[in-house]
Amino acid sequence: MKTRDPAALTGATEADAWRTRDLAVVWHPCTQMKEHPDTMPLVPIRRGRGAWLEGVDGTRYLDAVSSWWTNLFGHAEPRIAEAIGAQARELEHVIYAGFSHEPGLLLAEALVAKAPPGLTRVFYGDNGSAAVEIALKMSFHSHANHGDARRTRFIALGNGYHGETLGALSMGDIPLYRRIYAPLLLEPLFAPSPDAYEAEPGESPEACALRRADQLEALFAANEGQVCALIVEPLVQCAGGMRMYHPAYLRRAREICDAHGAHLIADEIAVGFGRTGTLFACEQAGISPDFLCLSKGLTGGFLPLSAVLTTAAVYDAFLDDSRERAFLHSHSYTGNPLGCAAALASLAIFDSDDVLARNRGRAARMAALAAPLASHPNVAQVRQTGMVLAFELTADGVGRTPYPSADRRGLRAYRHALSRGVLLRPLGDVLYWMPPYCVGEDELGHLADVTATAIEEATRP
Ligand SMILES: *Cc1c(COP(=O)(O)O)cnc(C)c1O
Repeated sequence: MKTRDPAALTGATEADAWRTRDLAVVWHPCTQMKEHPDTMPLVPIRRGRGAWLEGVDGTRYLDAVSSWWTNLFGHAEPRIAEAIGAQARELEHVIYAGFSHEPGLLLAEALVAKAPPGLTRVFYGDNGSAAVEIALKMSFHSHANHGDARRTRFIALGNGYHGETLGALSMGDIPLYRRIYAPLLLEPLFAPSPDAYEAEPGESPEACALRRADQLEALFAANEGQVCALIVEPLVQCAGGMRMYHPAYLRRAREICDAHGAHLIADEIAVGFGRTGTLFACEQAGISPDFLCLSKGLTGGFLPLSAVLTTAAVYDAFLDDSRERAFLHSHSYTGNPLGCAAALASLAIFDSDDVLARNRGRAARMAALAAPLASHPNVAQVRQTGMVLAFELTADGVGRTPYPSADRRGLRAYRHALSRGVLLRPLGDVLYWMPPYCVGEDELGHLADVTATAIEEATRP
């Protein structure tokens, strides 16, 4: 069979040829493949620069979702690219059991130095779901090593999301992803989400959070001595529609976990690395979790890598003469040096470019640009936490009656935005901005213009 080099594919007809070849062999993630190519266009991308992606036909797309929340400083960021290249020429990978390497060591030191106090140990994984699996297993196992094998349950939050592997999926509460696999999954206890969108009329976000924390406490009390850990996405439930909640919930959750001898797992896979305004979201509540799960932005969006940070208390529970008491979990690519080198370069940019301070200006600009859209008759809420901003579309605006999901309003917005050169990928009927931090004034202006027309398009009768 005659094949062609994809690099030679350019221009519109070439883009079509590419699509045909791709759809003949590739199974894309999180996609009903039957919707390709008609309902959903497949977009072949040739290169990325800054906040922009460039298609093989030359069309440019502003990446308003940071390519699934992974990218921090723009595509092909030269300093990170350089660090990966240099590392690849020295050591691409080495078994991490019994062996050590510089990027792995330096990254662990850097993460411990930047993380909330008390998180003094780093265990590497290679994606976010793996980090969640690691935290769940470590929590259970450390209780067991303390002779407390009755703790076999986890508490997770309504509307939460923690990944797609069976254990991580078990902790999630998004029916679209979970329902079909339910017979295979662990059954956590679900506590109601502290989501401020679901507050009672007139109730403040803080009061809502505290009311939900009381319900969390009741759930712990009803299952005394059986809970390993509570797992939460701090401040923003991202996959659940960028739902946001008050940090008071995290403070109370920390106290409740302590009172009931359970761990707190903070899944900051999406919200970590500055998305919420602080380097880690937990900082805004002034708490330290027992486990901090990191991935996505960890490498600046370049390579799959994850890290689970934990405490000396958890770590010490595994030290023993018996191998069975050790944490025998491993992935072939644990501590991959290329990923660690990318992560180190990414962390260095936070310091050299004063990223968090500059993002405060960007976040304020995002708020100002989004404000006029809040009065649209079908916008129920515009909400923001740092560099994450979301528009909740409903059939009657502030009445909060959801559109029938079969309407696929978000898909209309997606297609419209794509035709105007913006990658907006709504979650159901929630449009959101989660751009790379390099996004400029003009780009944000363009994003706001296209979002305004995308909302028009999505809410047309
Ligand atoms: C994306 C995500 C995960 C899963 O990470 P993957 O690398 O996609 O497996 C877990 N938790 C949260 C909060 C996420 O947003």
